[in-house]
Formats: sequence, C-alpha cells, structure tokens
Amino acid sequence: MATETIDCPECGATIESLDEMDAEEVPEIETRSRGGIGYGEATRNLYLCKSCRKPLGIGRRGNE
Ligand SMILES: [Zn+2]
Repeated sequence: MATETIDCPECGATIESLDEMDAEEVPEIETRSRGGIGYGEATRNLYLCKSCRKPLGIGRRGNE
C-alpha cells in the first residue's frame, strides 16, 4: 500500500492506515440491465473518520 497519509477534510485528523478509520460494510449498487438500480453481489467497506464519522472512502473487503 501507499505510504502517504490522508487528512480528514472535516476535522483535519491525519490518518496513516486503515486501522485509524472505522469501517462499515456497504452493499455495492449497480445498474440493472433492464433499467433502474439494485444491490450487487459485492460488499465494500465504507471507511469513516473515527473522530467525526465523516465518510472518507470506499475500499474492497478482505484487505491483507
Ligand atoms: Zn474527521
């Protein structure tokens, strides 16, 4: 993984690793072939700032 850090745009907390964020599992949304949208097969992790709970990004599950 990258060695760079990210700063929370909400509270300014510096986050250096996934361990410093809270993760919630969220289903993937996909477009249906017949039109409309629905839940896909995949589940992703939504990462939240531990300090202010701002969503910071989506990651794949099963990070080694
Ligand atoms: Zn924050």
